Amino acid sequence: MRDDSPIRLLIHGASGRMGQSIVRLLHGDGRFALVALVARSPVQAPDGVEVLAPDRLDAAPEFDLAIDFSLPEAFDAILHVCHERRSALVSGTTGLAPAQCAALDAAALDIPALWAANFSLGVAVMAALARRAAAAVPGWDCDIVEAHHVHKKDAPSGTALALGAAVEQGRGREPAYASLRAGDIVGEHTVQFATAGERIELVHRATNRDIFARGAIEAAARLAQQPPGQYRFADLMFPGL
Ligand code: NAD
Repeated sequence: MRDDSPIRLLIHGASGRMGQSIVRLLHGDGRFALVALVARSPVQAPDGVEVLAPDRLDAAPEFDLAIDFSLPEAFDAILHVCHERRSALVSGTTGLAPAQCAALDAAALDIPALWAANFSLGVAVMAALARRAAAAVPGWDCDIVEAHHVHKKDAPSGTALALGAAVEQGRGREPAYASLRAGDIVGEHTVQFATAGERIELVHRATNRDIFARGAIEAAARLAQQPPGQYRFADLMFPGL
């Protein structure tokens, strides 16, 4: 267990949309001391924070925890440095290959590690509710409908699949999926349970990408207090839900 000193933080992928949100939201958060930003393109750094190109990651100052929102091809490097230095890792980088997930499993024997496809606190609660509802009405039809902006390529969304996995845990089989792509919708997910004469709908609407950055920051604050192991976002944030 750590003492009360601020968590020395490195942000990997700091010039990206998520990296930039995290840097902005960390401003004034006394739980953390930002020590380094790793960025492929130029970034503005707060005073006293080192900015490193990805190929200089080995030269990063000491850090307790890294937050990674980069690209799959950058993931191995940050995992390696965290493992080597026994620093914790929170990663939201999507599209990891199976070998990268296996490497994360192995590193988590030695460091606290958390990877999540979705760092929204609301989606984490919704997944827990969906699992419980599915267990309560296993014979009802279950469908997950998701809507996103027109630029999103994958369908169903990773979040829809994660909600589907929660439903499957609850009732032993996956739901059906439907996807809509329209306008600039940030992200909407509905888990619907229906039978003759009645229907339950759980709905989550994201209106702002900051929700993911905020969730990652809260998860980082908790993960830094944990012993080595692989953690799930929902369990860390809502133990017992
Ligand atoms: P982005 O394209 O804006 O940012 C990616 C960043 O990674 C870029 O700044 C790029 O320069 C940087 N990068 C690339 N190679 C690098 C390297 N070798 N070392 C360090 N940095 C490197 O994308 P984004 O919207 O910020 O998303 C980043 C990742 O997070 C994506 O995988 C995305 O799918 C994922 N994401 C996850 C969640 C979640 O809740 N888990 C939410 C949003 C986005």
